[in-house]
Amino acid sequence: MPTEIAIKPFRFKCASSVLPPGSKSLTNRAMILAALAGGRTRIEGALFSRDTEIMADCLARLGYVVNLNRFEKTVEIESPGSRPPNSCARLHVGNAGTAARFVTALAALRRGGKYRFDCDEPMRSRPMAGLIEALESQGASFEFLGEKNALPFILKAEGLKGGGVSVDAGASSQMLSALLMVSAFADSPMRVSLRGDTVSKPFVEMTLGIMSQFGVKADFENGAYSAAFSPSAGAERVYCVEPDATAASYFIALPAVAGGACEIKNFADCRLQGDAAFCGILSKAGLIDCFAVGGSLVAEASERRDFPESLELDFNDISDTFLTLAAISPLLPFKLSIRGIGHTRAQETDRVAACAAQLRKFCAKVDETEDSISITPHPPERLAEIAQTTTLVNTYADHRIAMSFSILASRDVRGDGRPWIAIEDPGCVSKTWAEFFEVLYTARSDSGALRVVAVDGGAAVGKSSVSKECARILGYMHVDTGAHYRTVAYALLGEGISPGDPALVAERLKSVKLGTVLCGNSARATLDGKLVDDALIRTERVNSEVAKFAAIAEVREFLKSYQRSMADFARSHGFAGLIMEGRDIGSVIFPDADVRIFLDADEQTRAARRAREGIADSIGLRDAMDRSRKTAPLRCPESAERIDTSNMTKEEVVRLTLSLILES
Ligand code: C5P
Repeated sequence: MPTEIAIKPFRFKCASSVLPPGSKSLTNRAMILAALAGGRTRIEGALFSRDTEIMADCLARLGYVVNLNRFEKTVEIESPGSRPPNSCARLHVGNAGTAARFVTALAALRRGGKYRFDCDEPMRSRPMAGLIEALESQGASFEFLGEKNALPFILKAEGLKGGGVSVDAGASSQMLSALLMVSAFADSPMRVSLRGDTVSKPFVEMTLGIMSQFGVKADFENGAYSAAFSPSAGAERVYCVEPDATAASYFIALPAVAGGACEIKNFADCRLQGDAAFCGILSKAGLIDCFAVGGSLVAEASERRDFPESLELDFNDISDTFLTLAAISPLLPFKLSIRGIGHTRAQETDRVAACAAQLRKFCAKVDETEDSISITPHPPERLAEIAQTTTLVNTYADHRIAMSFSILASRDVRGDGRPWIAIEDPGCVSKTWAEFFEVLYTARSDSGALRVVAVDGGAAVGKSSVSKECARILGYMHVDTGAHYRTVAYALLGEGISPGDPALVAERLKSVKLGTVLCGNSARATLDGKLVDDALIRTERVNSEVAKFAAIAEVREFLKSYQRSMADFARSHGFAGLIMEGRDIGSVIFPDADVRIFLDADEQTRAARRAREGIADSIGLRDAMDRSRKTAPLRCPESAERIDTSNMTKEEVVRLTLSLILES
């Protein structure tokens, strides 16, 4: 990895789909629960990182069968039952807090077990006391090889006797999580109560949530948790790890910076990770809109313009994502204060101080308190001035600072696509997402290739409204090819030529001079250099004759080359994509389109839609003609996505279409 990387801003709106890596917290919890629950578990979407490999290694040393497939991102665990098969093992937990706490609690379940635990230097001073004392009260004993109540140690395990146990998890919620997970496997029912309070409550919620997915249900009554395992949960299971919500936050914020939309795959149903709330916070602030489609979540740039003068937010419960929002604050049209983040000063680096130091390079004013940061952005003109030279963002070996500021850097502040931010030590992202910069790079639409989307379908199926809306969101060029046929029909009818005389039509077509003009992001046909009023090509006369003209092979041939030229027109006008709607776009005009969609609706629905719009049109007749003509009959192209819109709202069709485009 280079020592710094200059980030290329997005020249076009974002229109992409990403799959963040699996959540580390869930991957490690899933491995422990797979060992506890017994049988065979296949964990899919697992994160492969040092911490998860440490967990897998510890489980293998305890005698569980562990198979890792780094390529497929799966971990398979075979367990004879909750208690570790090996009575003796040397375990190294590295600097992985989850492995240190969870594996200690798991090993304590064995009767007559002796385990030697060691760790990396920093883990020696990380808190273990609360868990150790709780396990001692349950029958385990520890011989400390260094400091008392800390790693490294030898654990003599005698099973956990159950009954009441209280744990001091004030220093780390992982100690409570560890005890909760093993509590259902004690010799008699265990009631776990919390002494004092704990930090990061969402992580405890996460533990309870994933326990229940593995068949371990916990109740909280009279101040104590009691958990029970239901073996009916089965001996064979597949567990899908949610994508990491903190990693997802960068791409949720991206449309607020670069415009357009970004799909986060498999993220719609993420309920276990507190950081999944980031999306709701950003949309409440009016920076993005987000919605679920299938299993994915799509974040799109918001249209909102009426922002308050200042916004204050509490990020205590989702503090890993505070940097994501703070880093894009130089682009926000309001003053931002984020509080509840004091504990992040003790993370990879003092995140509040580090973030403030970097933001001062781009903002008018940045203030910190022990627990908060307040940022006053510069006006956009001043930021554009600052962007005239490239600024280096220092990352303090903190992957989250590197990723957050890369999102800020994605805004084309200079307006010329040239980088204005470089990120120091980009290799630090490998802690959680080694491919981050590649994913960000490919999320850009500036490969030079035009993305072509063909939307076909009969009359009044919603093609136009859906195509226009998707084109607006993504900043793509939109073309309505029905209007081309209408313009030709209007021109020829005006000359008194009837579609009943195809030879004459073919002859006079030569004098029809079509051109193109851009209206907003729609490319519209001109006739003899002039835009024809839309009302003139949508008269009853044109409605009743257009399909007859469209059935003439020469008319189709004439328009085919014109319509294909729209790709060059889009490219030369700087669009990254083209959405073309019609009857034969995916089958004849662009059979190799990147996305081919066929919209359909039952006749009643279409007639009702037209009636609502007040358009007198014999759509049934036109469709019958369009379907039965010899040249390029209306049909769903092979392998196109067919969407029946009869029982869908326009918004639902837009969302589905948008997600198909983003995924392509
Ligand atoms: O989309 P619209 O209803 O305005 O299209 C008018 C007519 O143009 C259609 O009924 C059809 O006969 C013709 N058409 C076509 N191929 C296209 C677009 C429109 O045959 N790609």
